[in-house]
Amino acid sequence: MSELNTEVSQLINSNERPSYWYDWKWQYKNRITTVEELRRIITLSEKEKSDIEFCLTNFRMAITPYYASLMQKDNVNCPIRMQAVPTINETVKLDCEMADPLNEEGESPVPNIVHRYPDRVLFLVTHRCSMYCRHCTRRRVVGEEDNIITEAEIKTAVDYISQNTKIRDVLISGGDPFVMSDERLERIISALRAIEHVEIIRIGTRVPVVMPMRVTEGLVNMLRKYHPIWINTHFNHPSELTPDAIAACARIVDAGIPLGNQSVLLRGINDNVDTMKTLLLKLVKSRVRPYYLYQCDLSQGLGHFRTRVEKGVEIIQALTGNISGYAVPKFVIDAPGGGGKIPVNPEYIISGDNKKYILRNYKGDIYKYPQPPDLADEYK
Ligand SMILES: *Cc1c(COP(=O)(O)O)cnc(C)c1O
Ligand code: SF4
Repeated sequence: MSELNTEVSQLINSNERPSYWYDWKWQYKNRITTVEELRRIITLSEKEKSDIEFCLTNFRMAITPYYASLMQKDNVNCPIRMQAVPTINETVKLDCEMADPLNEEGESPVPNIVHRYPDRVLFLVTHRCSMYCRHCTRRRVVGEEDNIITEAEIKTAVDYISQNTKIRDVLISGGDPFVMSDERLERIISALRAIEHVEIIRIGTRVPVVMPMRVTEGLVNMLRKYHPIWINTHFNHPSELTPDAIAACARIVDAGIPLGNQSVLLRGINDNVDTMKTLLLKLVKSRVRPYYLYQCDLSQGLGHFRTRVEKGVEIIQALTGNISGYAVPKFVIDAPGGGGKIPVNPEYIISGDNKKYILRNYKGDIYKYPQPPDLADEYK
């Protein structure tokens, strides 16, 4: 046990925040990656310790000191802890689960590109993240920090995009693009911006949630040179919206970057109306627009996080009409096998024909909407 590690665990457990706490490189370098470090921060039984050791042989753990400071010390059901600390449940593999449930590899024309939809691609620029989410859908590749994506591979991917004039939207993801240096990220973004048919560039990042100090003025000032840039982040629980996280979101939005959020519906973490409502309202208050709520994917070892599909429908139904439309995300299932995102909605159409539609409103009251008259008959 080095002295520095002792110091990190002490800092996490106190309210003391020296200036280096706000340096993202310090946060990154001092991530909690071993059971030995973790046991100084939260209470762990002997069984939990050996279970975690076992899990780490499959998918690594890394928790920033910042995110670790949000964990409740003695609560195994703490929503922050459940996203960050492995449990033996992740070693259970069900028959329906797959390493690559979304068939990203099958739809990859060149390495690190997933081209599933006609006008947009997913561009995976790194396998590293600041925190490894236990519910990560891309756990088959994410966290392999030694498996570096080379400049040559990046160039091949950019060339693919430049040769496909139908691609108007590039979604930069990973891993987490914001663990890269500003310089390396800028090289990728400026190369994409130089392609005439690329209209928008989006970035998917969990940094505002797990390492908000990474969102520096330097980073957002770099990004704003390449507008239109859009960002989607990944808050799952209201307790993640700390003053630091909210300030990071504000720096992004103040740079003129529309900021959306994608949550995953996770059993025991956010699978109830009250938690979800609090999260969504807090997001909107922080100028973050809820975009998608995902049904948990079929990646191996995620069975314990999955909820029944009806749960998500019930949550969306309870929110629709009762809170601002801005606060209600689209609930989707990313189709196993690679069919893309499929919206799953409560039913508001009772029946429809040539003459009229019969509809149900959010309170369950029934309304009739007549179809327009046949133009040939009624109008000259
Ligand atoms: C989610 C996703 C996109 C973006 O889809 P939107 O619905 O436009 O947000 C693009 N490509 C792949 C492979 C995706 O999984
Ligand atoms: S930040 Fe995203 S890619 Fe990284 S571990 Fe979490 S869910 Fe996976």
